[in-house]
Amino acid sequence: MTRVFNFSAGPAVLPEPVLRKAAEEMLDWHGSGMSVMEMSHRGKEFISIHAEAEALLRELLAIPASYKVLFVQGGAIGENAIVPMNLLRGKSGADYINTGEWSKKSIKEAKKYCSVNVAASSEANGFTSIPPRAEWKLDPDAAYVHICSNETIGGVQYHWTPDVGDVPLVADMSSDILSRPIDVSKYGLIYGGAQKNIGPAGLTIVIVREDLIGKALAITPSAFDYAQQAANDSMLNTPPTYGIYIAGLVFNWIKAQGGLAAMEAHNRTKAALLYDYLDSTAFYSNPIAKADRSLMNVPFKLKDAALDDAFLKGAQARGMLQLKGHRSVGGMRASIYNAMPIEGVRALVAYMKEFEAQNG
Ligand SMILES: *Cc1c(COP(=O)(O)O)cnc(C)c1O
Repeated sequence: MTRVFNFSAGPAVLPEPVLRKAAEEMLDWHGSGMSVMEMSHRGKEFISIHAEAEALLRELLAIPASYKVLFVQGGAIGENAIVPMNLLRGKSGADYINTGEWSKKSIKEAKKYCSVNVAASSEANGFTSIPPRAEWKLDPDAAYVHICSNETIGGVQYHWTPDVGDVPLVADMSSDILSRPIDVSKYGLIYGGAQKNIGPAGLTIVIVREDLIGKALAITPSAFDYAQQAANDSMLNTPPTYGIYIAGLVFNWIKAQGGLAAMEAHNRTKAALLYDYLDSTAFYSNPIAKADRSLMNVPFKLKDAALDDAFLKGAQARGMLQLKGHRSVGGMRASIYNAMPIEGVRALVAYMKEFEAQNG
């Protein structure tokens, strides 16, 4: 068996101990005589798996008791519609901060449900920074302020939590949730698909302040009504059971590593290895303002794009996969989520040096 270093942006690398445990438990989970995939979501075995996953997530993020945790379907793109349907609460508009491709998708979808005020945008500089808070033109009557905490494609990330006063702050954290400690009480709602930093695709996590739910638009499908899902412990419809099980194993793994502070230290060390090298040579470049660089997704370009294919081929031959950049940006992108071991980043930097020496 050979495991590669998988730099995919998502679905992405998972911790090897989690995959081993899932393999061990595949045919017979804890003496139940069946796989988690085969269990009733209403049986006591799965209910215990679900409850443990939620308890661990609450512990890792120190989620206050006044927040609901939902394990649902629909993905972050689904949430782009589900958020306005649930959070408008009689208001007609919401503020959005535009920091890249994922923000743009959120804005486009929200426009179907409300008027969108783009309160700040870094589009003019090619999405290479996060607009400073002082430049945001917020509407005091907005239903909420939406940000994307980490732009998975562009590689920009907030390293501060915006203060937006009494208006609820909503964050798409698909690609950096659990990568570092956060103060959940500063947010009204946090959502994310699991397939970047948590587990398999198909599971969506929503953390929402209780007082914000219960006023969904009448057209909201029941399965996407936070209040109905909260009242049913995320079991209004069949939840993504296997995804919840794997997420629980990942939460346990994070806890065993020392929790989110340890994750952040590990992620900072990995990212520094890569950025320090990128900054030390003119052969490669990363366009993002240093203060706003993502610790999770590191896009970079070779000096000569004609070398891209050779670079990717050489990486593949050394067991490093999925380094091709997003089609909208070009170049390369190394996604280095929680589960990417430091050895993977060391191997990548060593290969980049070797490639530069041969082609520079
Ligand atoms: C991947 C990603 C999405 C899309 O998630 P889906 O699960 O495909 O709906 C949305 N936002 C961000 C920040 C992402 O990284």
